[in-house]
Amino acid sequence: MNFKNDTYRHQGLRKGLVEKLKAKEITDERVLNAIGEVPRHLFFGLDTIFDNHAYEDKAFPIGAGQTISQPYTVAFQSQLLEIAIGDKVLEIGTGSGYQAAVLSVLGAQVFSIERQKKLFDVTRPLLQELGYNSIKCFFGDGFEGLPFFAPFDHIIVTAAAPEIPKKLLAQLAIGGNLVIPHTQENSTIMKRFTRISPNEFSEENFHNFRFVPMLKGKAF
Ligand code: SAH
Repeated sequence: MNFKNDTYRHQGLRKGLVEKLKAKEITDERVLNAIGEVPRHLFFGLDTIFDNHAYEDKAFPIGAGQTISQPYTVAFQSQLLEIAIGDKVLEIGTGSGYQAAVLSVLGAQVFSIERQKKLFDVTRPLLQELGYNSIKCFFGDGFEGLPFFAPFDHIIVTAAAPEIPKKLLAQLAIGGNLVIPHTQENSTIMKRFTRISPNEFSEENFHNFRFVPMLKGKAF
C-alpha cells in the first residue's frame, strides 16, 4: 500500500524497530515483514504528539484511557497465532487498529470488536481510509465474541482477561487457537489455547506482559 504521510524518515525508523524485534526472539519472517509494512505512526489519532516516538518499542495512550500495544507484544501475539492466508481471525480490543492492520497484512480476514464507542468511532473510518478493507469493525462486548460469524481460525484478545471467556473458546474452529493475556494474582501471563476436538483444548503458557484490563459491557 502507498500511504500519504509515510516519509523515508518513518520508513527508516520502522526498519530499526524490526531489527529490535528480531533481537527480542521474534523469528517469524512474515510477522517481521508485517511490522515493517504497517505505518504505526498513523495509528496515534489526530493528536500527533507521539508521532516521533511511534517506532520505539513502547505502548502509548490513544484516548479513552486505552493504549496502542507495544510492538513487541503485537509481534509476539501475532507469531503465536500462526496465521495462514485467508484465515478468519477475531480480535477483541480494536483500540487504535494497529494490531488489526498487522493481522490483515498477514493475510487474515479480520473481525475486530471494541467496547469503547469513542475509539470505535475513530478507528473504523481510519482503517477504511488507510485501505485495510479485509478488517470489519464491531462495537460491542468482546466477552460475547461474534457468534454469527463463528467459527474463527484464531482469536486474539488484546486486553488482560480476568478469566478465559467460555464463549470465545466455543467460537474457535477445531484446530484453531486463542491467544489471550490472562491475569491471575497480579500478574498477566500470555496463554495459547488450541481446540483439539469439540470438547478438548490444549493450553500453553508463555511469559508476563502488561495490558489494560478486559472489561465487561460497552462504554459510551
Ligand atoms: N489491539 C489494540 C490494543 C488496544 S488496548 C491496538 O493495537 O491498539 C485494548 C483495547 O481493548 C482497548 O481499546 C479496550 O477498550 C478494549 N477492550 C477491553 N475490554 C474489551 C471488551 N470486553 N470487548 C472489546 N474491547 C475491549
